[in-house]
Amino acid sequence: MVNIIKTNKKFSAGDVLMAEGDHGQSAYIIESGEVEILVNRGNNKLRIGTRGPGALVGEMAMLDDRPRTATVRAKEDCEVIEITRDDFEGWINGADPIFKMIMHVILTRYRDMLSRSFFSSNSKSAAENVEKENELHESAMKTIKMKEELKAALGKDLVLFYQPIIDIKNRKVAGFEALMRWIHPEKGMVSPGVFIPVAEQSGLIVEMSNWALEEAAKTSHKFNDVIAPNLKGAHPLYISVNFSVRDFSSLGFFDNVKAILDKTSTPVDNIHLEITESLLVEQPDVAREALAQCHDNGLSISIDDFGTGYSSLSYLHSFPINTLKIDQSFIRSMRDKPGNLSLVKSIVGLAENLNMTVIAEGIEDQEEASILNDMNCQKCQGYWFAKPMPENEAIEFLKNWTVPDY
Ligand code: C2E
Ligand code: CA
Ligand code: CA
Repeated sequence: MVNIIKTNKKFSAGDVLMAEGDHGQSAYIIESGEVEILVNRGNNKLRIGTRGPGALVGEMAMLDDRPRTATVRAKEDCEVIEITRDDFEGWINGADPIFKMIMHVILTRYRDMLSRSFFSSNSKSAAENVEKENELHESAMKTIKMKEELKAALGKDLVLFYQPIIDIKNRKVAGFEALMRWIHPEKGMVSPGVFIPVAEQSGLIVEMSNWALEEAAKTSHKFNDVIAPNLKGAHPLYISVNFSVRDFSSLGFFDNVKAILDKTSTPVDNIHLEITESLLVEQPDVAREALAQCHDNGLSISIDDFGTGYSSLSYLHSFPINTLKIDQSFIRSMRDKPGNLSLVKSIVGLAENLNMTVIAEGIEDQEEASILNDMNCQKCQGYWFAKPMPENEAIEFLKNWTVPDY
């Protein structure tokens, strides 16, 4: 591999490293000192940011010969490493072919992204373009930081909360959905809406799902052993665990699930798998095989957020699905929008025809529970029954379960 040629350069306070409009040949990594990023606004220069040690500036020059979009000026005495386009190209050309191919794809996409978001819109000023670039940089940094923090949190600051799923026909607690919470040492409780996408993007979700499954499996014993005898819940009580598309990208999804259930001596009836429609659409072949194996071995499969996805009903019956979970957005609006009420009714009917169970999510008041009961929807989940809660509270909930009036 060709070594990157590193040339150290010194700049004094006020020196210009690169000027807006110039055709540059180099990028700079700041080793010490601070630089400011300036853009021309009329006759003035507007400062839109500063960069310190470790930052990379002017990297577009390594990709193409377009004019610089900003001026970079030393705020104080600085030392930088200069990387020329020749250095960069030599480095890429001499690299391992796989690395070369990956870099090529990434750079092409980066160039496309920049030209789409920065250059295609003439109405955007250079200042806006660079601000956008700063935002992207910041958000990338946040994601990287969160990923590192999440990795450290696994097995320490991640917990599962449990939200009951009520069988509104026989008025028992049918099971619980396991929902992840991150108890961040400084930020407090972080919503899965924030950290699950980062986990999915970084691939950390696979490890997190395994952890969640193992935790839920252990808890399912506690729920069943302690609770089932007083018949406040169905027997066996199940815990529904959420899985992402990413969890299916490695081979042996079922083997992995089975290994965790064996390790925790958990019967398959104690666990349901919750997946979204996007898995069936994005990876139908992988999903079909993995889900068939799960189903053949007695695991129940639920489709989460049903109705929000790709709504092609044709594929549904070709997968071994046991339960449809109607997305809460339809429940929320079914009283105001007759179309959504009809849709909920249709999903309940569809589930019945396909011999599937149906769960309505997001029940927030008695009237919603009553409408769903009248529709013959079998199961409901929502804040009106209980919010997601820690394991010990869920056990208390089960012990004290009294049927609400609906
Ligand atoms: P989801 O799987 O659709 O989970 C249901 C979400 O709705 C939960 O939000 C729950 O707290 C909330 N919810 C339940 N009842 C009500 C209600 O009556 N009203 C309202 N407004 N909300 C209600 P949460 O816990 O914030 O989770 C958000 C999403 O994060 C989940 O949506 C799921 O997609 C994801 N997620 C959570 N835990 C996991 C996990 O362990 N693995 C994976 N892959 N995803 C997870
Ligand atoms: Ca879910
Ligand atoms: Ca859902």
